[in-house]
Amino acid sequence: MENLVKLQKQWFEEGHTRSYDFRRKQLKRFKQMLITFEKPILRALRYDLSKSEYEAYAGEIAVLKNEINEQLKHIKQWMKPEKVKAPFTHIGSRNYILKDPYGLVLVIAPWNYPLQLSLAPVIGAIAAGNTIILKPSEVTPTVSWVLKKMINQYFKEEYIAVVEGGKEVTEQLMMQPLDYVFFTGSTSVGKKILAQASSRLIPVTLELGGKSPAIVHKDAVLHLAAKRIVWGKFTNAGQTCIAPDYLLVHHTIKNELLAHIKSYIQMFYGDQPVKNGKYVKIVNDHHYKRLKKHLIASEIIYGGEVHDGNQKIEPSILDGLNSHEALKEEEIFGPLLPVFTFSSLEEAVSMVKAKPKPLALYYFGENKEEQMFITTSLSFGGGCINDTLYHTLNPHLPFGGIGESGIGMYHGQASFETFTHTKSITNQSTKFDHRFRYPDSKTGLFFI
Ligand code: NAD
Repeated sequence: MENLVKLQKQWFEEGHTRSYDFRRKQLKRFKQMLITFEKPILRALRYDLSKSEYEAYAGEIAVLKNEINEQLKHIKQWMKPEKVKAPFTHIGSRNYILKDPYGLVLVIAPWNYPLQLSLAPVIGAIAAGNTIILKPSEVTPTVSWVLKKMINQYFKEEYIAVVEGGKEVTEQLMMQPLDYVFFTGSTSVGKKILAQASSRLIPVTLELGGKSPAIVHKDAVLHLAAKRIVWGKFTNAGQTCIAPDYLLVHHTIKNELLAHIKSYIQMFYGDQPVKNGKYVKIVNDHHYKRLKKHLIASEIIYGGEVHDGNQKIEPSILDGLNSHEALKEEEIFGPLLPVFTFSSLEEAVSMVKAKPKPLALYYFGENKEEQMFITTSLSFGGGCINDTLYHTLNPHLPFGGIGESGIGMYHGQASFETFTHTKSITNQSTKFDHRFRYPDSKTGLFFI
């Protein structure tokens, strides 16, 4: 590990990663790598998570290709030094901001979208001219192995390397002289990463989790709200950081909304989702048992079937008030949707405010003032009005959390900026001097 870090630091110092041509070439190479390895990637995602080809391609590979295209389209412009104005005191000088890569970036990834969330930050770090060590999640070992194999085949280790392993390996990596850490994972581990990085003043981005609400008001288009909530919640079997964690619905429309939700679950996943080959499984025994415990201790309104053989849990609706206590506090990260009711938007807002600031928030309702009321009275990472998840698929919208759900943003230009240090320069004239600033200033403002 020490040798790898030394090698990458030296390579960075030699300046190989800086030019536009180099970055462009590497991004194109990266895209080719994804094309060449498409089949092994799809197989690995099926093996580790039972992801269907559709979910694997749409949620992992396509997102990465879009991110590469976005960087390729704009980096030439983003890399340019940015000229800025100067006050009268700076007369004669040129003032500009250089876009400097940080150096060696460590990317630590989670298991839920093990390809996308490993490689999207890597793409940003390449575009910004850094060298990269990627530490994928040990919870999805097949994807981790494919990542190592393809990166090894396409890139030199002094430029991009994959180091596999779990907690201990991450801890060792965090002891290295890194220039930037990009972490995606749980809030509890994020706090540890921040503590380690802060002791050596290493800058970090933390993409964390939390409890993201979906609020449905009485003027919502109910069948569409239901359809989009079912899609956002049960894609990847609820193992999505921005999935609606719980549902807040106006008490007058609860029954109608739930009837629509049930029919969309059946339409998307059939009568027996746990036997549907296209429905994603729970990633491992630990999470399967955790979710089963929640299910058993809650009042089930719909669903509730589990299948020990393939570790699948049916999309299930739970009564919020009579659900497992732990489920009310913890991020659920599975296909269980507790439902709570509210009588006024103020009440819904105070229910959300009672919990840490969420990563995402989804509001369903037609009234523009009420939409504005929700988006301005609550603090959350980002979200949608009348939809779920879609905000993350727009490269022009920076993505990230706030408070317990994270620090920093990425995607598109925000990715380039995350991995770029903005270095401010005053380039002073030597044709004359500013007399007024010196302690012995006697005559005039300037002299030659
Ligand atoms: P995790 O925090 O358990 O693990 C993330 C990474 O940290 C893994 O690579 C793991 O090996 C490493 N790790 C685990 N324990 C560690 C420790 N004690 N010290 C150092 N490193 C350690 O998260 P996870 O279970 O892989 O992922 C699920 C979590 O990630 C959820 O909370 C989810 O909301 C969040 N998440 C957030 C985003 C986002 O973009 N904001 C995206 C996906 C997942």
